[in-house]
Amino acid sequence: MTTNPKSRVRHLAKSIRNDGAVSAMCFARPRAIDMKRATWTTDRKAVTCPKCAEIVKRLMAGQSAA
Ligand SMILES: [Zn+2]
Repeated sequence: MTTNPKSRVRHLAKSIRNDGAVSAMCFARPRAIDMKRATWTTDRKAVTCPKCAEIVKRLMAGQSAA
């Protein structure tokens, strides 16, 4: 196997299209995640992408303040 799941970045899913393509929170413009190089999760604790993790932190802060 050439794909090692542990080496792939896990983004936080932003939106899931009808065709199954998933866009990540850290993408400036919505586009499909390259599933060969990365993957996604809806579990904020499971995110491994540094940019998505930053966004999660901000989301958490906003939620606790609300
Ligand atoms: Zn990301």
